[in-house]
Amino acid sequence: MQRVYNFSAGPSTLPLSVLEEAQANLVNHEGLGLSIMEDSHRGKPYTAIHEEALQNLRDLLQVPATHSVLFLTGGASGQFAMVPMNLLGPDDVADYTNSGAWASKAIKEARDVGRVHVIADCGKERPARVPYEEELTYTEGAAYLHLTSNETISGAQWQQFPDAPVPIVADMSSDILSRPLDVSKFGLIYAGAQKNLGPAGVTVVIIRNDLAERVTSRVPIIYRYQTHIADNSLYNTPPCFPIYVLMLVTRWLKAQGGLSAMAEINARKAAKLYAAIDATDFYRGTAIPAHRSTMNVTFRLPSEELEAAFVKAATAAHMVGLKGHRSVGGIRASIYNAMPEAGVDALIDFMREFEARNG
Ligand SMILES: *Cc1c(COP(=O)(O)O)cnc(C)c1O
Repeated sequence: MQRVYNFSAGPSTLPLSVLEEAQANLVNHEGLGLSIMEDSHRGKPYTAIHEEALQNLRDLLQVPATHSVLFLTGGASGQFAMVPMNLLGPDDVADYTNSGAWASKAIKEARDVGRVHVIADCGKERPARVPYEEELTYTEGAAYLHLTSNETISGAQWQQFPDAPVPIVADMSSDILSRPLDVSKFGLIYAGAQKNLGPAGVTVVIIRNDLAERVTSRVPIIYRYQTHIADNSLYNTPPCFPIYVLMLVTRWLKAQGGLSAMAEINARKAAKLYAAIDATDFYRGTAIPAHRSTMNVTFRLPSEELEAAFVKAATAAHMVGLKGHRSVGGIRASIYNAMPEAGVDALIDFMREFEARNG
């Protein structure tokens, strides 16, 4: 069986060594005679996994003691609702930035909960971008500022974060752990695991503890951050197996040299792919150069027919998942942490050949 290069946006590629280790332990976890999927979430083996996964995230991101790391379920989409349920009181306003499809879903959900000011809106602009810091006109006393650090669909990414006068809440689903981060700048960070952390099923939340105190008793216990902080993400049964794989992924990241090493590799992979796009008129990038994502590289070909042919020929060459999101079309190469540089090199070679044959 041949493994392909998987450029899918999510669920997405995982390190091969992680898959192999999970496979080796699937039926008989570390000689226990059962799978970690079958064991109590309060038992010793799972407890060790849970604690290491939390600690690895703390180490990689240098999470300060003021913040808790949580494993929840419901995906980033669940956080679109849980954030305002917990942080946006009945007399409050929250500032949101609209940078594209994911930000606008977060806005839609927040509007059902409370008052929302969209203080910058470039979500429909083409080429794609994220808001400029000068555009941000904060609401006096806003409960928080929400932003989407990387728009997975359009391929636009915040290269640096604004100095906001209020806590920043960031959806980092598609670029968490891709670069070092100053967590102290954020009130809350959330990410579904299936892009850059592991398999779908676990959602990581990093929250400044004092913000969790804002919640009112009208919010169901299960949807309060407080509940999960108090019980170390073991209030109810956590998604044990996805957390196990996340633990292996974060262990792998530490072995790669941590986030500064990953940032260097990610920058190099993205730079060579964008250079290949910019080297010809056949390929056209769809985000403004200053806001290009290092994770989701989006581009177009001269026609939709050529784009369809590109995806088909790439698949035949063992490179899959390159079709752009159905809402925007085009091509999207997702090159998360686990995409080896050799995969990017193979894609660039394929792009040159495809242009030579069809350009
Ligand atoms: C994938 C994605 C989501 C949605 O994640 P779910 O886990 O499916 O809810 C939200 N935001 C961003 C930036 C994403 O990439």
